Amino acid sequence: LFVEHPLGEGQTIPLAKDQAHYLFGVMRRDQGDRVALFNGRDGEWTAEIVEAGKRAGTLSCLGQAAPQLDPPDLWLLFAPIKKQRTDFIVEKAAEMGASRIVPVLTEFTNSERVRVDRLQAHAVEAAEQCGGTFVPEVAEPVKLDRLLDAWDGSRHLMFCDETRAGAASALSGERDRPWAILIGPEGGFSETERKRLAALDAAAPVSLGPRILRADTAAVAAMTLWQSALGD
Ligand code: SAM
Repeated sequence: LFVEHPLGEGQTIPLAKDQAHYLFGVMRRDQGDRVALFNGRDGEWTAEIVEAGKRAGTLSCLGQAAPQLDPPDLWLLFAPIKKQRTDFIVEKAAEMGASRIVPVLTEFTNSERVRVDRLQAHAVEAAEQCGGTFVPEVAEPVKLDRLLDAWDGSRHLMFCDETRAGAASALSGERDRPWAILIGPEGGFSETERKRLAALDAAAPVSLGPRILRADTAAVAAMTLWQSALGD
């Protein structure tokens, strides 16, 4: 269970209404039961339920079960698409160990209304389900132009471009700087954007194979490609 509270021996954790509902109503846990907790900073902790009410509850931290394990420093930058598919991208990025997820508004982005709080909640759920101790931050949407204006080359950019049709690229395995993956919108990148991206220092234009993938599929494929070459 994800909680915002600091975790430490003897720490008392008050539960919010939705957490109490989930734990006692949905998961049928009760007083005296043990629960695994994480807050994204202090590793995994075992806690005991000391009060179990319908709308509230209290846990007491017993001991640390696992140390904090942070994923590699990998950002996923993606142009938001339809709501459910955007949810999917965030969920899969959190499962696959992105450290930061950034919605990027490009020229052909047609879903500019992004609810960051909702996406952050999806990232928390995904981290809960895969037993991680880390939750990636979902950043506020940023315009691609502004992002590139500020790009200082301290991070490699794996720029996924379907116009580079052909066999999936092999990443060259450069570990001197952290990486960011960039996935375009349903309509792809504009010619101007593509030129600007390809000319960027530290950009690695990448093919994900000879077929045009949906943006959500491309995000998963790109993260897998990165993991196989550079992940731990
Ligand atoms: N119209 C489809 C859709 O509804 O999602 C296809 C979208 S595709 C243009 C979206 C993005 O996925 C592209 O901008 C690119 O970043 C990535 N992508 C898709 N297929 C790819 C491929 N074969 N190689 C590299 N990137 C790819």
